[in-house]
Amino acid sequence: DAMSAEGFKPESKGKKQREGTSDLGDGRLQVVNEKQEFSPNLSKYMGKWGLLDKGFAYDVVAVFGSQSTGKSTLLNRLFGTNFDVMDETRRQQTTKGIWLSPSIYSPTIVMDVEGTDGRERGEDQDFERKSALFSLAGTEVLLVNLWEHQIGLYQGANMGLLKTVFEVNLGLFGGSAPGKDKQGDGAIRAKGHEKTLLMFVIRDFVGSTPLANLTQTLTQDMEKIWDGLSKPDHLKQSKLGDYFDLTFAALPHKVLMPEKFEEAVVDLRKRFTDRERDDFVFKPAYHKRIPADGVGFYLDGIWQQVLTNKDLDLPTQQELLAQFRCDEIAAVVWEQFEQASKGVRKPVETGSVMDGLGGMMGDWRSTALSKFDKDASRYHPAVYMRKRAEVAKAIEGSLMPLYLGQLKNLHHKQQAAFKNDLETALKREGSDFAVASKECRARAENAFIAGAEEMQIKEVNWSHEDELKSLRRDLQAIADQCRSDETKKMVISIERTVKKQLGEPVEVSLSKPSDKMWDNLLITFKAVLAKAEKLYMARAKTYNCTDEENDANIQVLRRRAWTALHGKIMEQLSDHAIMAKLRDQFEDSFRYDASGVPRVWTPNDDIDGEFRRAKEETLDLIPLFSRITFRDPEAEFSLPADLSSSDPDTEFDFESSLQILSETKKLELENRFKKDADAYYVEAKRSIVSTMSQ
Ligand code: GDP
Ligand code: MG
Repeated sequence: DAMSAEGFKPESKGKKQREGTSDLGDGRLQVVNEKQEFSPNLSKYMGKWGLLDKGFAYDVVAVFGSQSTGKSTLLNRLFGTNFDVMDETRRQQTTKGIWLSPSIYSPTIVMDVEGTDGRERGEDQDFERKSALFSLAGTEVLLVNLWEHQIGLYQGANMGLLKTVFEVNLGLFGGSAPGKDKQGDGAIRAKGHEKTLLMFVIRDFVGSTPLANLTQTLTQDMEKIWDGLSKPDHLKQSKLGDYFDLTFAALPHKVLMPEKFEEAVVDLRKRFTDRERDDFVFKPAYHKRIPADGVGFYLDGIWQQVLTNKDLDLPTQQELLAQFRCDEIAAVVWEQFEQASKGVRKPVETGSVMDGLGGMMGDWRSTALSKFDKDASRYHPAVYMRKRAEVAKAIEGSLMPLYLGQLKNLHHKQQAAFKNDLETALKREGSDFAVASKECRARAENAFIAGAEEMQIKEVNWSHEDELKSLRRDLQAIADQCRSDETKKMVISIERTVKKQLGEPVEVSLSKPSDKMWDNLLITFKAVLAKAEKLYMARAKTYNCTDEENDANIQVLRRRAWTALHGKIMEQLSDHAIMAKLRDQFEDSFRYDASGVPRVWTPNDDIDGEFRRAKEETLDLIPLFSRITFRDPEAEFSLPADLSSSDPDTEFDFESSLQILSETKKLELENRFKKDADAYYVEAKRSIVSTMSQ
């Protein structure tokens, strides 16, 4: 039985199809069931059919026509699908609903609509309208299936069906009236872009009337139906050709001429598969521009709109689709981005400077955005651009802490490096602080800037200026500290020289006590100090010290020099040393004559007088030693003000430093000396007695 379902199986629906759809049985999906529910599995099936990642490189064909005109049979033969065909032997109605199946010949979705013949039974015109809306929203080619003998007889079902198609199409693609226009620009949206190809397939074509005549009749009839439509005002002038192209095909009687029928089908199939042909039907102009991975969501949305009987607003549907898909794509992209960037967050947070972080960040960003672009750019341009900006912003927001963290780490690293660098440089023989600090600073800053610039992503507006400023402040502080340490060391080394230079003059002066003693020491001191200050100023030049710093250091140097002088004096005028000096003086004066010859006392000598003179002379030394006093009253005032003032902060007290011996100490020394002197006196007296007794 050639008419049985078995007999309609296309010969090619053998191995090839079964392999491709083995887990799907016959590969069909009932996308809308008899309860008018939309299948949640469309996207999954798109994947199984290998269409999900096709972008725009897929096509959609649907069929329309009266019940039992061999529509499903035609689709099965043309595309190798397996839609239900009415079982002739039982005249059993096939399941109502909308079915999708992939063509086995090309990436094409084939849509078959099943329904009771609403017009003939006076029911369910509603479903017909709904399925027309649904088909037209995504279809490039709508097959209009009709018997040859139906042509020219457009009453009832056929007429109504095409009217429905045209009306629905106007609603979908006619564009909104200026007043209703959501975007307010009054443009008749989509006109001229959203065209659909109507392919009339004339069944049981006998050939007695030439096809050309039939197509002419059909074309005229279509124009008539179009003109008879009640169109909204703003579309009054629109032409059928603004929305539809018409094309025709004829097939011989399937039962009476099975071979001819097969030949004609194979021929017709080429118009759906061979892109090189002039009459290839899937022209780009007919494509509804729904990316393959959005078809599931889009058709679902369309169907929901159809169900609620609202005006089906395709631009809105496309925007909704774009929002949904862009969000989905963004989520995937974001997940991958987070995975990629996860590894470096910890090290950056804990202070590491990551080599090549900028390159990595740039890669993550561009990988994410180009993946987003690849998948999302097919969707509604405004939505896509907006979402892209959101994704870019989110990514940049997420990279920002890495950028700032790494800047901080770079800052700290270069700050430490600078300190080390500078200290090392200053240890070098003959180093010049100003030169060294300038070089080290340049090295640190350049390393920081290089690191910061490596992280700069071209498209992102990041700045390292603030961090660089902060680094500069820190380097300055380190340099200041270092300079202050260094100049202090320098002052100490000059102080050491001063000490050395003062040692001998103090010893010499104090060993020959005289009225001019202190004045001479002061002259020496001033000379030594002047030399020290000159040395300081010469060295300070290389440190770029400020005037205040120099003033402070000079003051320190002066006071230290004075303290050194004072220390040396105190050392030279210890109790023991003074006693020795007094004894020497007394001996020189009492036991030696003017020419330095030891005296031999005779009874005629005035021992008492000599003793008294020598003692007085010697005792005069005690007040001389007891206080630094200048005979020249100008001398003291010729000292720098830093010295002649006292400073409670540093416990430097010039005035009290002048006092060498206290009053008690003076008395004590006097008494001790007197006792020593008495011993000399007794010894002198005894020496006479002994010479006389010889
Ligand atoms: P549909 O309801 O439009 O999908 O029609 P079906 O494909 O289910 O076919 C309805 C009946 O028409 C079936 O019994 C088919 O065997 C028969 N049929 C299919 N193709 C042709 C054809 O080209 N000519 C004729 N006369 N009958 C056909
Ligand atoms: Mg059918």
